[in-house]
Amino acid sequence: MIVETICVGTELLLGNTVNTNAAYLAGQYAALGMNSYYQTVVGDNAERIVECVKLALSRSDMVVMCGGLGPTPDDITRETVAELLGRKLYEDETTLERIRDWFGSRGLHMSENNRRQAMVPEDAVILDNDNGMAPGILIRLRPEERARLGRAGAEDQTILLLPGPPEELSVIWENRVKPILQKEAGEVICSSMVKVCGRSESEVAELLDDLINSRGDVTVAPYAKTGEVHMRLTARAADEKTAKKLIKPVIKDIKGRLGDSVYTTQEDVTLEKALVELLLANHLTVTTAESCTGGLIAARLVNVPGVSEIFKCGFVTYSNKAKRKLIGVKRKTLDKFGAVSAEVVREMAEGAAFYSKSDVSVAVSGIAGPDGGTEEKPVGLVYIGVNVCGNIRVKEFRFSGNREKVRNQTVASAMILLRECILGYYSRLTFGEKENG
Ligand code: AMP
Ligand code: MG
Repeated sequence: MIVETICVGTELLLGNTVNTNAAYLAGQYAALGMNSYYQTVVGDNAERIVECVKLALSRSDMVVMCGGLGPTPDDITRETVAELLGRKLYEDETTLERIRDWFGSRGLHMSENNRRQAMVPEDAVILDNDNGMAPGILIRLRPEERARLGRAGAEDQTILLLPGPPEELSVIWENRVKPILQKEAGEVICSSMVKVCGRSESEVAELLDDLINSRGDVTVAPYAKTGEVHMRLTARAADEKTAKKLIKPVIKDIKGRLGDSVYTTQEDVTLEKALVELLLANHLTVTTAESCTGGLIAARLVNVPGVSEIFKCGFVTYSNKAKRKLIGVKRKTLDKFGAVSAEVVREMAEGAAFYSKSDVSVAVSGIAGPDGGTEEKPVGLVYIGVNVCGNIRVKEFRFSGNREKVRNQTVASAMILLRECILGYYSRLTFGEKENG
């Protein structure tokens, strides 16, 4: 099924409201295995809304519209869509009752314009709103409407209207829309997540080319995040057990091809969580020494509950003096190589672990820009050093983008390098033990 989103609201066009509904809905479509090729944002203007709905109906099976169901005169989605279809609006008794109750139970006065939210087009499915007043409205296009407005060859086409407030939209989607979609599909759609770090999206796409482009039972959809690639695996089957059975070997296959760079197959595990779990599992305490990231790496680690068991200290050593006084970087090293150098970062990683008595440390120094770059040391040049029980590795990176981007890439790369070094350290140990044994 092809689905597309139209978000209605001038506040979205002006940038006053961030369009979180589009992102939420897109994630929901992906999880249900629905294909979505377009998203539109349009202001509170009837003519332009009509234009967008017509275009959407010409190319999609389901058009999900959000916003413009409020009580104020600029909220016109309901009326505009009804008029386009040629359907009358009527006041739905049950909904009006619910709105009255909503006000009554809060001791508030219901104004006349709230009655508008009980108006629904004839012959539509009303989807109760557990978090607010305006219900969702599901309209199945009649044959004559399809003939006039629909996509050639489409069997069933629907328009779904949802209220703009995100907590109302999501509750209607979760409680009312999803069950309908699942029931109609006559099958369940299961999805799993595979998260990869330390490989570029193009590298992952190349290694998994056949899986991503396969027309088989399981679809693999990758998307890139800073330093990471996430992949959603989706399978359709008659029941959940069968769908999961289809996904399992694909996960195994991906792990086989990408190895340790797969850091989790759980939706809610972030990179920092995986890293903290690795540190906890190995009883390793950690300390950060940060220059250009100013504490961002420490902040990411502290996102994870339970980190207090292993996180000792975060040094923000921005100035040369702080690098010398707090973590023992030598003046000579700073003078000879400069603060942004492999040598200084090595000493930062060494000193951070030493002064905090940590097993592990990670240190970064770089030029975040926009100023301060030279030909020899351009903006984006970053050194990251990792110390795992005295084994130090320093790596040079050349990032691009603005200050924020350079810093975010540094944070992700530092966590990834730290993870890589810990895994490498233990695999060497295990290998050594086997050799000796
Ligand atoms: P409306 O249904 O157009 O009256 O929207 C009500 C409120 O929902 C607006 O004031 C916004 O705060 C919020 N809203 C509307 N559309 C969106 C959207 N696409 N993403 C996030 N919030 C939205
Ligand atoms: Mg609005």
